[in-house]
Amino acid sequence: MPVGTQGSVKAIEQRELNEVGAQIILGNTYHLYLRPGTEIIQTAGGLHRFIGWNKPILTDSGGYQVFSLNELREIEEEGVTFKSHLDGSSHVFTPESVVQIQRQLGSDIMMVLDECTPYPSEPEYAKLSNAMTVRWAERCKNAFESGAELYGYSQSLFGIVQGSIFPEIRRQSAQALVKIGFDGYAIGGLAVGEPADVMYSMIEVCEPLLPADQPRYLMGVGTPVNLLEAVARGVDMFDCVLPTRNGRNANFFTRSGSINIRNAKYKTDFTPPDPECSCYTCGSFSRAYLRHLFQVKEILGLQLATIHNLSFYLWLMREARAAIKERRFGEWKMKMVSQLCAEDKVVEI
Ligand SMILES: [Zn+2]
Repeated sequence: MPVGTQGSVKAIEQRELNEVGAQIILGNTYHLYLRPGTEIIQTAGGLHRFIGWNKPILTDSGGYQVFSLNELREIEEEGVTFKSHLDGSSHVFTPESVVQIQRQLGSDIMMVLDECTPYPSEPEYAKLSNAMTVRWAERCKNAFESGAELYGYSQSLFGIVQGSIFPEIRRQSAQALVKIGFDGYAIGGLAVGEPADVMYSMIEVCEPLLPADQPRYLMGVGTPVNLLEAVARGVDMFDCVLPTRNGRNANFFTRSGSINIRNAKYKTDFTPPDPECSCYTCGSFSRAYLRHLFQVKEILGLQLATIHNLSFYLWLMREARAAIKERRFGEWKMKMVSQLCAEDKVVEI
């Protein structure tokens, strides 16, 4: 899922999102709640209409931004009180209110309010934090069931497994959420600074406990290699700012690793960023031209890099799906991982 934080995937039009093959995008409840505000979006007829995107949208609960952008937040059983990072005004998110906000946004997939346990955390903190996240998840489910959709189509609600890097807490979290029952399950609180192999082992802990016939969503991950390793461990969905954010920093993901187009060696390189890519950027422009755009700070550079990187990520996921269907995923993944690590060092988040 390309990330459209404020109702826009940065540097790319909705028309181009369709062209690169995006099936679903992510919107951030926290940002949309503060600006333009939930009421304006509801008056517009929901987020899809407001932003002109007629495919699915997933919204997060806003919890992650409350915890990461606000030093002055206060967590209590009832919910979390925070000050807007824009004007310092005071707001409260409760499990019930974030479900209501996401009803008003009209997202196809809504997320429960959780505390993304900080990394590193002591096991005792992670345990208490997760216990509260589970109680919040149950309240979200009750609010979801007692409310109704506003725009004539049904919405789904996903639970979020927490538990930091402690296998037993992760297990308890997954089991408790499955017992409450959600339409899908996210694995949260990873890619927050822990080593990649710890992240992979946490996915392995959760995977057998999450229903195989429902989507599993690894939040905020990651590099192309991270995605393939997670798919190999049973993950179905991802969101990450890496293709868009790195693109705006002149970083192009290619089938043979990532390259920084600002590098002087591309000054007279008239080949496409990724010769095997069929996106608009690679079909029309050279590394030398793209380097020039970044050197002179033309906004077209940001747009073309974003088109390519999203095309590449979505291509990678399409290939993974095809390989799984044809029962050759393991072999394909091994080949891709060694290829992806080839060129410049893969940029970690
Ligand atoms: Zn391309």
